[in-house]
Amino acid sequence: MLLVGGGAVAARKAQLLDAAGARLRVVAPELSAPMRQLCARSGAQVCLTAFDPSHLQGAMLAVAATNDPDVNSAISAAGRAANVWVNAVDDAAASSCYLPAIIDRSPVIIAVGTGGASPTLARRLRAQLEALLPQRLGELARLAARMRPGVRGALPEEHQRRQFWDRFFESELAERVLAGNVAKREADTGFESLLATAAAPVTAAQEAPARGAVWLIGAGPGDPDLLTLRAQHLLQQCDVVLYDRLVPPAVLERVRRDAERVFVGKESGQHRTTQARIHELLLHYAARGLRVARLKGGDPLVFGRGGEEIAALAQAGVPVIVVPGVTAAFGAAAANAIPLTHRGLAQSVCFVTAMGEAAAALDWRALAAPLQTVVFYMGVAQLPRIVERLLRHGAPDNRPAVVVERATLPGQRLVAGTLKDIAARAQAAGIAAPALLMVGDVAQFASPAARLDPNA
Ligand code: SAH
Repeated sequence: MLLVGGGAVAARKAQLLDAAGARLRVVAPELSAPMRQLCARSGAQVCLTAFDPSHLQGAMLAVAATNDPDVNSAISAAGRAANVWVNAVDDAAASSCYLPAIIDRSPVIIAVGTGGASPTLARRLRAQLEALLPQRLGELARLAARMRPGVRGALPEEHQRRQFWDRFFESELAERVLAGNVAKREADTGFESLLATAAAPVTAAQEAPARGAVWLIGAGPGDPDLLTLRAQHLLQQCDVVLYDRLVPPAVLERVRRDAERVFVGKESGQHRTTQARIHELLLHYAARGLRVARLKGGDPLVFGRGGEEIAALAQAGVPVIVVPGVTAAFGAAAANAIPLTHRGLAQSVCFVTAMGEAAAALDWRALAAPLQTVVFYMGVAQLPRIVERLLRHGAPDNRPAVVVERATLPGQRLVAGTLKDIAARAQAAGIAAPALLMVGDVAQFASPAARLDPNA
């Protein structure tokens, strides 16, 4: 591989390339002292001359590390003509490839690339990941590599192997390998005994149908960064994921690549998968011994019918883990810096679903009372009826209200007003699902014209 340049930038690149095992050819009219030393140490071949396209011969990759943009462009053009990848340092336009920042735990390599957008951002991310990853990750990976053929032989089913590997990486043995306090031979023996236990045929007395587990996971309001750490961790472990209409693609991105994905929201724009059908599916997958992630928008236990799923699973004896999520009200409040409680304005918060017939049974007088924040999870079409009911039950028409559409998602929108005009404003703005209505004095925080009583 070819490195063009003899100064500080070239020296930095030479060091990295040498560490990665590259066979270096360096072209530059002159070399700085550190560069000379580096070349000597790495056994690089040096041509003390200006770059010429003929230097590309036999190279797979060229790094243009001169301080002259014109030379870098010339190298780039020559590379294109000769079918050689060119990376021009800090010059995305002149590059046909980028060299990502790497975290090297060989054989585990993590590359952070920004497509040339910001090498600094890549470096910062690299530093964060470095801090996160155990130093001896490579050792653990090498142990796994040694043991893979044995595992394949002992555990014929793919999902058995996956579960075994997950258990291994969470095992005390793995922790000890990472801590560096187990010798290679001892690690191998320890591993083999873990494998023997996993592969041992169960005796008739122990025999039980394989039983998976269901994880009822809150996906949050939309922004994938609002997933909990536990949700992320479990989404990486599941064999199958059943998800709702409210779960956005960016959250599904966090699910293990080869997990089966089953959509149980609206079916091809037709009718909803029935709740009974969802229970059936959950039990079906769990009975196959799979780890099932049931991923729901927001929090699974807030207007998510999570309770019904828990009951169905409990009845069948399937273990359930519930992982909370950021409910839409919290997402909408945070994204718009609206406090849900505030001294003098709201002493309590109420989450209400006001859909269809059930809405009539609500205590509207209580919902219309002052000094609280009431968040309506709702279909957008319900908005005028909700407002009308609040007014009819004594809420003043100057009470602040906001509608938040697609809270925390790209294209989030907010409409602010009062009970008098919020329905008309939402309609004029063409607000569509998912959206929620927040009513109470705290809603004035969202409006630029907000005037808080300083004595409040
Ligand atoms: N379990 C979910 C709520 C499911 S009910 C939770 O905890 O958030 C569906 C309703 O939630 C929608 O009709 C809408 O009112 C609200 N909702 C969900 N996601 C939302 C979002 N990103 N922005 C605004 N409202 C949302």
